[in-house]
Formats: sequence, structure tokens, C-alpha cells
Amino acid sequence: MFERKDLEAFEKFRAEDNFVVSLFLNVSPQERKRGSYLSKFKNFIKALPEERLSHVKEDIEKIEKFLQTERESFKKSLVLYSCVKKGFWQRYDLNIELKEELVIDKTPYTSPLFDLLDNYQKYGILLVDKRSARVFLVFLGDIEEYGMIEHEHVPGKHKKGGWFALAEKRYERHIEHHVKMHLKDVVDKFSDFLKDREVRRLIVAGPDEAIYELMKILPESIKQKIVGRTFIEKYAFAEEVLEKVMPIINDYEQMKESKTLSELITRSRKNDNAVLGIDDVIKYLRDRRVMKLIIPKDYKIDGKVCNSCGFATKHDVDCCIECGDCVMKTYNLIEKVTEMSLQNGALIEVVKDEKERKQLIENGGIGAFLRF
Ligand SMILES: [Zn+2]
Repeated sequence: MFERKDLEAFEKFRAEDNFVVSLFLNVSPQERKRGSYLSKFKNFIKALPEERLSHVKEDIEKIEKFLQTERESFKKSLVLYSCVKKGFWQRYDLNIELKEELVIDKTPYTSPLFDLLDNYQKYGILLVDKRSARVFLVFLGDIEEYGMIEHEHVPGKHKKGGWFALAEKRYERHIEHHVKMHLKDVVDKFSDFLKDREVRRLIVAGPDEAIYELMKILPESIKQKIVGRTFIEKYAFAEEVLEKVMPIINDYEQMKESKTLSELITRSRKNDNAVLGIDDVIKYLRDRRVMKLIIPKDYKIDGKVCNSCGFATKHDVDCCIECGDCVMKTYNLIEKVTEMSLQNGALIEVVKDEKERKQLIENGGIGAFLRF
């Protein structure tokens, strides 16, 4: 898992007279079975000019060896940065498919990763009980644990009874006090943890009593981020935690998706900084006015594109309506549109739910919220 601050640090990396290899490769189990990920890598190398390649020979060898020996540890895709001469090597394993690329440049090629941070949400998980707490982050279907807090000194309940009922009351208060101290410490550490991370959504997990006490002391700014709660076994493996929280995350995202879609449709009808339909979306993209693009998953529209001025339309025109130049046929205008959005720094939201996807297609196929 990567953070914006890691990527910002990469941007400061100076290769000086050397070059950095940046590789984005899909390495899903199917790709691995047929070994096709390796051939794709080799094809990237073949396509490089000899002169460029000569700068990064050691890196290419290192990466090839890595791709062969580490394959068992791969997820769906892999991002590698290498500059052997400067001792720079970074690997990220992601659980989504990426646009595959090999870039050799003076700096690490980070913009696809920045785009992921802009377009996908991170979920923080706080698993808490009266003595311990664990923190996880879930991003792009992947989970990572960020440490555990244990307060061993929180006393347990005694089963002694009878002759000192009064003392027992005091003893219970003593436990309560320790639980409160423990939870206060958890809240402090958790607030710190959230500070320099872009986590806008949280899930809390644990026994009712602990959650109840936690809610009493959790700052409002953190409470507002909570999108769900569940019970998870204190010593659960990270994979079990992921299995428990994924349905909550999926439900939440679907709810958000349907809210976004109805807002898009209502606002575009009122001409309130929202549009539907590919030609309008393209027009506003060219004016750099798109804030967020809304597209259906796996959807294609064919059309014509002008390579001279960037005009594009779904209509079957022979010449560019704006500059009169020749236009080219494209089978995937959506791809052109997402490319333009990324260049413009616009967010992209993909509508995945079948019912909503259909609704969006019926309402023009693609839409956008505008900046102004
Ligand atoms: Zn044109």
C-alpha cells in the first residue's frame, strides 16, 4: 500500500546522470499461469531504443530476475521502480488491473499512482476491545495492518463474591477507570495515525461495550467518518478482517454510487453544473471544466476524433466541425474521455452496480459534474 507522501518523496528523487525504470505490469494468476506477464515485459524491452536501454541494463536484469523468482508473492498487478546505480528499488503489489507501461526517465513515473489515490477511497478499520486495539487500512481490495495497542495492565473481572460486595464495587470502578485510560490512549494514537493519511471512511469493530465506551470519547471529526461497524475476533488474521469488512465497504460504495447518479441526473436536468451525454462531456473536458466524470463500467461508445484540435463526437462526421481537418474513427471514445480527465486532474467514478449502470446508459451513457 502506498501513501501520497511516499509518492511525493519519489518526485524529489534525483537520478543525476542515471535513469529510473518504472514498470506497471498485470501479474494476475492467469497471467502467471501462461507466463504471459514475462513475455509482455520482454516485449516492452524489445520496443525500446538501444540507446535508452544501455543506461538501464542492470535494472532490466534485476527486474527480469525478480519477475521470475518472486511470482508466487504477486497479486493482480505490480508496480516497480528501479535505479540500481542509485540503490533505488521500490515495489508495490496491487489488487487491481493497471494500464501496463514501461517508462525510462530521469524520475520515477508516478502519475498513475497519484490517479489511484485521487479516484479510490481508503478505509480505516479500528478493531477495539477493553484491553487492545488494532488498526488496518483497506485500499483497492487490499488490507494492511498498522500495529496493535495492548494494555495488559487492564485488570480482569474477578469471580469472588460474598463478603466484600462493597470492595467489589470499588474494584469494578477500578476496571472501568483502566478501560477508559486504555480507550483514551487508543483514540489519541488513532487520531495521530489518521493525521497524515487520506482516510475519509472508517469502520469500527469490537464488542458492544467497548464500542459504546469508545463512542463516548471519539472526537466528532473522526466519528463523522464512520461508515459501518461489525464484530471481529480480537486476534483475527488480516484476511479474515478483510472478509468481514468488504461487504460493508461494497454496500457503502453502492449507496454512494446511487446517490451520485441520482444527483447527476437531477442536476443536469436543472442545468446545475452537471451534464449528461458524451458530446457535452467532451466539450466541457476541452474547456477544462469537468470536476468529476461518471462512467458505466465496461462501456464503449464509438465515434470520431480530430487529432489536430482534439474535437471528438459520437456522431458520424466526415470532417472536424471545429477545424475542418480529417477525423479518425475510434471504437472507444470513453477511453479518450478518461485520458482527457486524467490530464485535467478530474476525478473519475465508475458505476458498477448493474441497475445503476443501466440507468446511466439510458440517460446518455456518461456524465460529469462541472467545476463552475
Ligand atoms: Zn479539429
